[in-house]
Amino acid sequence: MRMDAKVRRLGEVVRARQPSVLLTGAGISTESGIPDFRSPSGIWAQYDPMEYATISAFRRDPRKVWEFYALRFEALTSAEPNEGHRALAELEGRGLVRAVVTQNIDTLHERAGSREVVEVHGSIREAECLAGEAGLLLVVGSSLEVHPVAGLPDTTLTAGGEVAIVNHSPTPYDGAASLRMESGAGETLAALADALC
Ligand code: NAD
Repeated sequence: MRMDAKVRRLGEVVRARQPSVLLTGAGISTESGIPDFRSPSGIWAQYDPMEYATISAFRRDPRKVWEFYALRFEALTSAEPNEGHRALAELEGRGLVRAVVTQNIDTLHERAGSREVVEVHGSIREAECLAGEAGLLLVVGSSLEVHPVAGLPDTTLTAGGEVAIVNHSPTPYDGAASLRMESGAGETLAALADALC
């Protein structure tokens, strides 16, 4: 089937199978001048993701990771939506697209006029300092073995907060916690609520 015949067929499917949801990735924005990750000309052809795009890389050398992201953010903020982004916004306006679920962080769908956009990987609009403001991180029923959450106690302690743990079995943060209880989650939290009445 030639491309125009395929597009006609796709149009029939879009009409017949409502509601339709779009799932987009970095490829929709390469035509806006933003490189993707895994194409031959993508970002990972130049940079090792393990050195720049993991939470352990960030903890090892935050400056290096921020410098990498500063370059990316610069490219992202100066990019404009392309005809693909605009077409999806138009189709949403005509009632043929219910929502766009995107892995992209570039905000180009929104800037093209799409209204129902789910940014599953967040966006460049904001970055959060993980739990940075917590005076107390109370951990209940977690072995604290699985990242990224397992890094939260460190973040809290580094920012001057305290960690308390309610867990049946030991965790790597038992020594650093100011309070550790081996009791059950339900009875402990219920008793805590009573104590705070
Ligand atoms: P990916 O890099 O793994 O894959 C992109 C795919 O798009 C490739 O298979 C490539 O062949 C295809 N492609 C590239 N240009 C295209 C075009 N013009 N038309 C059709 N196909 C094209 O990207 P992914 O699958 O989205 O991986 C997810 C990760 O990439 C997410 O974490 C996302 O945040 C991140 N990312 C986002 C941006 C952005 O926000 N624009 C840019 C780079 C990476």
